Amino acid sequence: MESIIHRLSARLLPLSTSSAGPFVGAPGSGNAARRRLLWRCRRPDGKIISSFDVEGAPSSFLPAGASGSRRQTRAAAGWFLGLGGKKGTALPEIIKAGDPVLHEPARDVDPREIGTERINKIVEDMIQVMRQAPGVGLSAPQIGVPLRIIVLEDTKEYISYADRKEVEAQDRRPFNLLVILNPILKKKGDRTALFFEGCLSVDGFRAVVERHLEVEVTGLDCEGRPIKVDAAGWQARILQHECDHLEGTIYVDRMLPRTFRTVGNLALPLPAGCPKLGPP
Ligand SMILES: [Zn+2]
Repeated sequence: MESIIHRLSARLLPLSTSSAGPFVGAPGSGNAARRRLLWRCRRPDGKIISSFDVEGAPSSFLPAGASGSRRQTRAAAGWFLGLGGKKGTALPEIIKAGDPVLHEPARDVDPREIGTERINKIVEDMIQVMRQAPGVGLSAPQIGVPLRIIVLEDTKEYISYADRKEVEAQDRRPFNLLVILNPILKKKGDRTALFFEGCLSVDGFRAVVERHLEVEVTGLDCEGRPIKVDAAGWQARILQHECDHLEGTIYVDRMLPRTFRTVGNLALPLPAGCPKLGPP
């Protein structure tokens, strides 16, 4: 979820980031074949470099960056210079809305696989992709990995770039990096709030989404230990947004009608009849 911070500075791009969808949505002979094809990846030059087999074959890792924005160019440069991760390795791209893979539910990580090099690499890539974007949350399906893994983090620095009144209204506070495998989200109470949010997979847009103000998320950490997160405010929103991705749901599937707009138009009034932003 990138929405949250509008701009790092006047010199940088809006944080509504995302890059080209790298995946091939070609039809296959059967459902399994189709799904395997769906998770196949391309390099920016169009060459397919690897594929993710949902049945458990080696995962796909592809370079960040493609055509378009300065951020993408920067990301692509990072890849070619080997800056994206370990030297010489490529960071995955963020899949853009419009690719049906974002509407596929993810599957649980097999607990026996937790701690393996493969899962650790996926998590490491997710963290780097999220930070490079930069964003405050990312789900594994957004980098082409159909597993139930989310990462999230919000920092004092990010928050310092946002409007102070907005930060207060959103109940947005910094929190340390969280990595949750196989998360189970429970909405608590019935208090909700309306705010604009965005997504690293929906570049340059925002829409108003109603979210619960308090949630509890249980799951496993990178070492397979049970964890429980009680979250409120903006962190609760991020958790709901990321857990939605694991069900194949993007925020545009939940947005209030007629509130979808470009980042540049965020400050314009809401259409007549739209409820006010914030908690009720
Ligand atoms: Zn998202």
